[in-house]
Amino acid sequence: MRFMHDFQTVLGRNLVGELRNFVHRPFLLVTMEDMWPKFNAAFEGAECSVYFVRSVEEKALLADLAQFPDAQAVVGLGGGMAIDTAKYFSWKRRLPLFQVLTALSMDAAFGHRAGIRIDGVVHYIGWAMPEAVYIDYDVIKAAPPHLNYSGIGDILCNHTGVLDWRYATRIGKCEAKWPYDEEAAAASLRKVDNVLSHVDDIRRLTDKGIEVLIDGLRWGTSFHGNGWNPRHVEGTEHFFFYTLEYETRKKFVHGQPVGLGVYVACLLHDSRAEEMLSAMRRIGLDIRPEAMGVGWDEVGSALHHMRDFVHRNRLWYSIAHDAEVDAKFVDRVRAGVEGAYGAWRSDREPDHVTLSGAS
Ligand SMILES: [Zn+2]
Repeated sequence: MRFMHDFQTVLGRNLVGELRNFVHRPFLLVTMEDMWPKFNAAFEGAECSVYFVRSVEEKALLADLAQFPDAQAVVGLGGGMAIDTAKYFSWKRRLPLFQVLTALSMDAAFGHRAGIRIDGVVHYIGWAMPEAVYIDYDVIKAAPPHLNYSGIGDILCNHTGVLDWRYATRIGKCEAKWPYDEEAAAASLRKVDNVLSHVDDIRRLTDKGIEVLIDGLRWGTSFHGNGWNPRHVEGTEHFFFYTLEYETRKKFVHGQPVGLGVYVACLLHDSRAEEMLSAMRRIGLDIRPEAMGVGWDEVGSALHHMRDFVHRNRLWYSIAHDAEVDAKFVDRVRAGVEGAYGAWRSDREPDHVTLSGAS
């Protein structure tokens, strides 16, 4: 496969408990505080120190890095932020890296670069090849389901990424270094179709559903395999998320804002919007703003400012560079989302979800 330069990925059981027996000692364990009670016992007496991620702002990471104890390896244990932080530390210290996914919430474990923030704006920097990525069936199935559903965001985005690539090509604005490539686009779109044809398996998190998610997320390594060309896997849907994150400075479960961005980008491109929305709802990925701790006013503001954001940050050419977002469009997005999920009812709905899979 031309684009696939995959990471060694191991599925099994009791994988967390084995780490202490083979990771170079002493090691630095990078994880999230809210999931620690679940995994604490597996590291009791092990030669390691534990680091809880609070922020993926580079400044904060560098300050913490300066105070680290000696370590011979880095272990990332989490879904998004812990995985990205472990990559960053392993890169800065040139230490071997082992990643353990506790939820299939995004594709961070399958990218060479760490998605860290500099003054609130995401930057993908660094180089980290994990010795292996471990995925434990029992750990994944025991994770809050919405964290696993979040993973479809980083697969459905292939559809909108390809739409942007075709759009930029059609209007003569595609970067010369990234000419449209039907083979790469087709490979990406197969991952999308795989999700759409396994909606029930993903919702129930059967072994097949887990396999479909992993196959789609592993495609993240094709960013490197395609010569650092991200066009077949990312576009307006992520740009919307980056704008929302920048404006609100909040942390998100990745697939929620990206999923909302998929719907937005599909509407702008007039391509399969209802189909994507319906798949996200049936799987159980809640893309209503309130479910991610923001309001429609903040989403509306991010939509209005998205064009300015993508120009200012010199992102690759997409429909977000041209689309005139007015109040009518925001109303249309809201009507579509609430038509599928129902309007948010604060007396009935749970508080917005915990963040262990966030990035
Ligand atoms: Zn993503």
